[in-house]
Amino acid sequence: MLLHNIEDVRKEITEWRKSGLTVGLVPTMGALHNGHLSLIKKAKETCDKVVVSDFVNPIQFGPSEDFDKYPRTLEADMDLCNKEGVDIVFAPSADEMYGEGQRLSNDTLTYVCPPFFYVNTLCGKSRTGHFDGVCTVVLKLFNIVQPDYAFFGQKDAQQVIIIKKMVNDLNVPIKIIQCPIVREESGLALSSRNKYLTEQGKKDALVLSKILNNIKSCYKKGITDVSALKETAYNFLTEKHDLEYIEIVDKYTLEDKIKADDNSIALIACRVENVRLIDNIYLGENS
Ligand code: AMP
Repeated sequence: MLLHNIEDVRKEITEWRKSGLTVGLVPTMGALHNGHLSLIKKAKETCDKVVVSDFVNPIQFGPSEDFDKYPRTLEADMDLCNKEGVDIVFAPSADEMYGEGQRLSNDTLTYVCPPFFYVNTLCGKSRTGHFDGVCTVVLKLFNIVQPDYAFFGQKDAQQVIIIKKMVNDLNVPIKIIQCPIVREESGLALSSRNKYLTEQGKKDALVLSKILNNIKSCYKKGITDVSALKETAYNFLTEKHDLEYIEIVDKYTLEDKIKADDNSIALIACRVENVRLIDNIYLGENS
């Protein structure tokens, strides 16, 4: 069922609650692919009812980012969700989410701002205000749907860490389930932004997963010095790659490491054909 209004969503969920059903929420910006589907499948396994939100959230995009051209494919998304047995697809307008004609700024709207330490690193360094926008919309979705569980991908590792922190710090009574990264056979992590890439760009983008896999295999061979591990990335980069960062940090706290260990995560952000791509890998796990 496709719903655009908060009130309609609440009405439906109230009925489910009366019957004692559990509810899972999968927040997305649409343009659904198999990565999103893995979250939906996990939600279906875990909960009686599943809500997918499909909303390109304006307040998490910077002024020079791709909000206007971000792919919007609601019809195809609906087909996928219907096939998976999703109960509600919630696709609100920005007016519905933030109030009609509301100026979208933290001068006029209440924002949820995660702690400086968590946002002043990795993606947050180049995307000022991004995680404020993410936390604000996610908490609003949590309040609208009031799910028992919410499902997020490890693909956006910094995002899921920040959401868990928000849920913990603000006593939000929702269990966050983190799901593994889904990749193409080539190794490329699925992303709605892959749609912007040419076939050649997709090949060039394989460098992200190659760099991460190589760091992990060096770590498994006994190299733990973070500088030495990061240095290995440069063997893969060409003029087609505009590296934003390559970091190895604690997978729970995002704290920098000098020596990598089994709790480390390696993360990369790199532009290919001017498309900003991110990926990451846990060093301690076998997958
Ligand atoms: P987005 O629509 O990009 O905001 O993503 C919605 C959710 O899907 C987020 O929790 C993402 O981390 C997750 N997601 C996106 N790509 C993947 C992927 N390749 N594998 C697993 N989860 C993903």
